[in-house]
Amino acid sequence: MKSKYADLKLNENINKVEEAATYIKKGKIVLFPTETVYGIGANALDENAVNKIFKAKGRASDNPLIVHICNMQMLKNLVQDIGKIEEKLINNFWPGPLTIIFNKKECIPNNVTAGLETVGIRMPSNEIARKLIELAKLPIAAPSANISGKPSGTKIEDIIEELDGKVDYILDSGMADIGVESTVVRVVDNKVHILRPGKITKEDMQKLGIDVVIEKQIMEECSPNEKVMSPGMKYRHYAPNTKCLLVYSDNEKELIEEINKQIKNSSNVLVLGRTNHLEKYNTNNKLDMGESLEDISKNIFTLLRKVDSYNANLVIIEGVKKEGLGLAIMNRLIRACEHNYIEI
Ligand code: AMP
Ligand code: MG
Repeated sequence: MKSKYADLKLNENINKVEEAATYIKKGKIVLFPTETVYGIGANALDENAVNKIFKAKGRASDNPLIVHICNMQMLKNLVQDIGKIEEKLINNFWPGPLTIIFNKKECIPNNVTAGLETVGIRMPSNEIARKLIELAKLPIAAPSANISGKPSGTKIEDIIEELDGKVDYILDSGMADIGVESTVVRVVDNKVHILRPGKITKEDMQKLGIDVVIEKQIMEECSPNEKVMSPGMKYRHYAPNTKCLLVYSDNEKELIEEINKQIKNSSNVLVLGRTNHLEKYNTNNKLDMGESLEDISKNIFTLLRKVDSYNANLVIIEGVKKEGLGLAIMNRLIRACEHNYIEI
């Protein structure tokens, strides 16, 4: 089916969201915005509809989807129980960019959770996403909008070529606010384990008096048979075809020196750097990541999608401190660079 576009603000274009909701109800798949990245959504209670998402993305069937909801009744319909710590997280961070893993009820088809007894659930804050769920009156299973392995879609222009014709309806509301996917957490023995870092940080949760553990695989390479708490950790993700190198130092001068040394040792290098550092790099090919962590988070997937068009021999990417939102950025960058990383 041919896609329809809608570049919309919610109140001007409520009819487009209504139309998209009817597509969800009919078992079709819809590309829609959230505050983190765009998603490809389907009725989370309809196994056939959910299969269409896996097919459109070329996603491995052992990689579970996140279910998006718009109210607490939906949560109660989907999960066995809501613990005290989960309740605290919900009260403080929902609606917002936090996915919580719960024990699932029978009504969730197996393909949504890739056969796991648990399900990841999130209540997005993006008003179009919430309206879509509300009008469909259904929980919506939605992974990031991209062909598997590619960077997640943060604006329609970046993903239209790879997804046009593969989805039934497109809601376009411009650039996603946050730009990296949600934080994914699971509570085990009264501790919150971060399975994927995002905008809601370890520090945000610690401020509430919660014990937080960061899973080591967030920054490390997984061996093929390693047991992981979150299947997504195992997958190759975000990497451009061009070879990429991630470089970080706490010391700004040393960071710039090291990147210039790497530029000298190679030919035809593209650098992705912070706005204030760009002029210090001795190459003509440069892309501006922005200056604040918020800017970098917003821009990073669009930039990673651009790098191959430079036909460079090497892409050098400036790292950031692995703190706060910086951990989420570094988790995506280290995967984009396939663990080709120098820290000084
Ligand atoms: P995506 O929707 O592409 O952002 O990916 C969602 C990610 O959430 C998956 O790759 C998993 O790593 C994680 N996830 C979803 N459901 C579960 C679950 N039940 N247990 C652990 N991790 C999950
Ligand atoms: Mg994804």
